[in-house]
Amino acid sequence: MTSNLHTWHRQIGIVDQHGVSSLKKSVDGDDDGILATLVLSSQLGAFRSGKGLVRINREPNDIIRANLVRGLIDPFPSDWQQASEYFESLGMGIMVQKFEEESEIWIGKPPSTQNRQSADLWMIHGNGRAISGTGSMGVIPIRDVPKTMIDSPSLICGVSSLVHRLLDEEGLFWQVPVSDRWLTLTARVDELAPEEARELISSKFGPGTSTSLIDGIGSLIRFRIPIEETPPELIDTLEQTRNPPSSNTEIADVGPFAAVSEDGKISFHGAPIPTILEEGDFFILGAGGTGSWASTMILSGCGTDSSLTIADGDRAIESHNLNRQVLYQEMDLGLPKATAAKNSLSRMFPDAHSQVSAIPVPLGPQHVMKNWSGDLTDEMTIGEITGENSDNDAEIALRLDKMDVALSCLDNQLARTWLNRACLERGKSMVNGGSEGVRGVIETFAEGSCMVCRYGEVEARSTEIVSCQEEGTRPVPSIVTSTAYVGSMMAAIALCVVAREKSELEVIPQDRDWFSGETRKRHSGRLPWFDNSCWSHL
Ligand SMILES: [Zn+2]
Repeated sequence: MTSNLHTWHRQIGIVDQHGVSSLKKSVDGDDDGILATLVLSSQLGAFRSGKGLVRINREPNDIIRANLVRGLIDPFPSDWQQASEYFESLGMGIMVQKFEEESEIWIGKPPSTQNRQSADLWMIHGNGRAISGTGSMGVIPIRDVPKTMIDSPSLICGVSSLVHRLLDEEGLFWQVPVSDRWLTLTARVDELAPEEARELISSKFGPGTSTSLIDGIGSLIRFRIPIEETPPELIDTLEQTRNPPSSNTEIADVGPFAAVSEDGKISFHGAPIPTILEEGDFFILGAGGTGSWASTMILSGCGTDSSLTIADGDRAIESHNLNRQVLYQEMDLGLPKATAAKNSLSRMFPDAHSQVSAIPVPLGPQHVMKNWSGDLTDEMTIGEITGENSDNDAEIALRLDKMDVALSCLDNQLARTWLNRACLERGKSMVNGGSEGVRGVIETFAEGSCMVCRYGEVEARSTEIVSCQEEGTRPVPSIVTSTAYVGSMMAAIALCVVAREKSELEVIPQDRDWFSGETRKRHSGRLPWFDNSCWSHL
């Protein structure tokens, strides 16, 4: 499985993929933490068999005690022998064997931290909090942490930071990210004008582009070779410089709730967080990188009476989606994303009785605006927005009316604005998130916050689709540490938004920016010149 070398195509412009696959590290800690690290590493293409190796400090017949990563490994292993076979089948080099020395990487929960005071790289998670660091773990009060509904997303947020730090410490990031690369087939034709050349010469790779030759007696015609048809070793011949290895020793406080106080004290305690969200209705727009992590993480925190709708207009999963879209495997290639997401979630959460629905069409204004009259489509025709599947319109409207909270995980700004409008009309909150390269944003639009007021009309109506797809859009580099962080944090916030509405929780996690393995508080407010004339407001 995952033998396709193009899997990491969107990532090879960010990191030295050969260095990533050749990493050799030893890992210890709690079972959830080790497994989460393996899941992110496999998505990253790290520790590849024959080049790299990850050593796990366990005996093969040790039983696995883990419940936070159930939605990320399919089928779920019962012991470490099975776990090692699973990750080997994904192409990883893995050794499960007890060792005497201290592991280089350690992930765990208080109070198990009392067994360990330092590691080259460590991450501590629990009670909606997560910190990662290098060297000494500092002074952590050793008390048991309670189980919460956001334990899975907190763990993934922490492991995303940990793995990002690992790449940074090893000096594996390129100095200058490359957003795309491709091969071109170029043909020279003499005595033909460019337009003629384009008409007379074609390729199975689609239409070409043509230009005049510099000597004026002919044309050059060029065809872009699709990535699937390109030998990976040719794509790989760019010469780039790596960033120097990082020596950052700061603790990164990356969980939904803060673990480090302003005076630098670490605590994993705070106001109680519900153990599980018994009832909640979630609407997720976009089942790509962030959406696939968000949907899994939401179901990890939900009880039996919850439901989840995934709407995505992507018609087919492609191989270069696989490296950061945790829901999909090779067997899903070619399926519509929403359908594959539903299949995968239903398989991994069979006893949750969570109602997962898939709507394989994009969101359009006719879905979100109760009194829509068609005046907002001057930049996109209704056909372009909805495709031919208008049968799903009624279903989308019904799901939007029922939802408690919406998550916007799309690469299309205008569709985010529409979803925000749907939320405004229904008095619901929207959690918005996105990532590009090593950056990400997570923010909540609650209590009538309007996207057009916050970002301005031009930005909010932008139809540019930044995308990890091959064609027709601006391609962006993408790495799993960023998509996993953003999607998991969105899930944690969405769970907290619903809990707060049910008066089970007082505060929700703050808006934040993600940058290179760390997070910062995000300050966003209304644009002052936009208060009165907003077309999105009712
Ligand atoms: Zn507004």
